[in-house]
Amino acid sequence: MTTKEEWIEKDLKYVWHPDTQMKQYEGSDFKPTIIERGEGVYLYDIDGNQYIDGISSWWVNTLGHSNPKLNKVLTQQTEKIEHVLLADFTHKPAIELAEKLVKLAGEPFSKVFYSDDGSTAVEVAIKMAYQYWYQKGKPEKKHFVSMTESYHGDTLGSVSVGGIDIYKKIFNPLVFETLKVCAPYCYRCPKNCKQGECGIECFNEVEKLFKTRHKEIAAMIVEPLVQGAAGMRVYPAEYLKKLRALCDKYDILLIDDEVAMAFGRTGKYFAFEHAEIKPDIFCVAKGITAGYIPLAATITTDKIYNAFYDDFSQLKTFYHGHSFTGNPIACAIAVENLKIMEEEKIIENLQPKIKKLKECLEKFQTLKHVGDIRHIGMIGAIEIVKNKTTKEPYLFTERIGHKVFREAMKNGALLRPIGNIIYFLPPLIITEEEIEKLTEIAYNAIKTVTEKN
Ligand SMILES: *Cc1c(COP(=O)(O)O)cnc(C)c1O
Repeated sequence: MTTKEEWIEKDLKYVWHPDTQMKQYEGSDFKPTIIERGEGVYLYDIDGNQYIDGISSWWVNTLGHSNPKLNKVLTQQTEKIEHVLLADFTHKPAIELAEKLVKLAGEPFSKVFYSDDGSTAVEVAIKMAYQYWYQKGKPEKKHFVSMTESYHGDTLGSVSVGGIDIYKKIFNPLVFETLKVCAPYCYRCPKNCKQGECGIECFNEVEKLFKTRHKEIAAMIVEPLVQGAAGMRVYPAEYLKKLRALCDKYDILLIDDEVAMAFGRTGKYFAFEHAEIKPDIFCVAKGITAGYIPLAATITTDKIYNAFYDDFSQLKTFYHGHSFTGNPIACAIAVENLKIMEEEKIIENLQPKIKKLKECLEKFQTLKHVGDIRHIGMIGAIEIVKNKTTKEPYLFTERIGHKVFREAMKNGALLRPIGNIIYFLPPLIITEEEIEKLTEIAYNAIKTVTEKN
């Protein structure tokens, strides 16, 4: 029998892990954890150790691991058909899912374009917006605006609109240029406003930019309400409301990257609902199959769609399609996911959990090295700082978040951090007791690590 040590040795011999400095495992007792199974909010490793999943695997799981209802649909669909090409052919799960998504999003949404993951959904949105203006006879509207510290995926188009150095800096010569506006990062406000008492002064930058350059701008892309990969930076819904109005004023498309936020994460199906706006194009991926299989969708309106509709005379076709576009197994699971969300009132039942998470987060305030506490819906984040008064951060090389993560693993919680930010983004089916347990492990881990360092 292959032992755990042999599995790990083989892993490190053959697997190049994502977002990972592989040398950290050399000569260290820290190794990748081999997960063997999951049930509900829990994961179990090869030794049978249990971990409460604090970050929904990688922000994808919503209805718990190895969900019996979803497992059943997966088997049933696999026995019928595993793949259908989506050009000149179609299948019931793709049709059902598109109808459900359009109805959930409400008017004016009318069309669903499938792809494989968050990055491709963003690529589709960018190309759609670009080709839209080209075909509307305004090819000069070709620039994209996004926020500093934004994250929209790891493929080159999505990196272009991204703004986080570690993902982008090296590739700057390869990506297309974009226009940047400062992110609404309330804890370290770019305009030095007092948290919670601002008039969204940072938005003035967008106003200035649109006013001077709107004739060349195709679209602005945003992560709605939360800049996730930047460290779960929550910003006011009012920002999105203002942005929608400004986009209308200057005839600029609004692309809403809901990849991490859709399907209940913020307490509503879509984050744009908090701002009571509708974007022109929005992208969904992470929660769409409840974490089962890669699938994504870029959803838009007739206004966009009609600009691509012609009789071949003008070559308006949208030439974009991935091999696995609208995969039937993935679509069938997504349909079941949405059915369960509706039948089991997943969103409605979130309210007491959201309240519990908020309460549990408040306790972190007493810790000496907790700088900021952020919360929206089923997301909570703790920014750890060296000095609470000056907000001086720990250095990247101090790996403080990583130390907290390792300490929490020892105590049965998976809390893989973003730099110095420890965050909670649990499956939506987590109970209030489990929220208490998860946050308590995190509290103790932060206390142990920071008061020692
Ligand atoms: C994760 C993420 C993406 C990229 O999705 P992948 O499935 O990893 O390609 C895009 N946008 C946002 C906001 C994300 O959080």
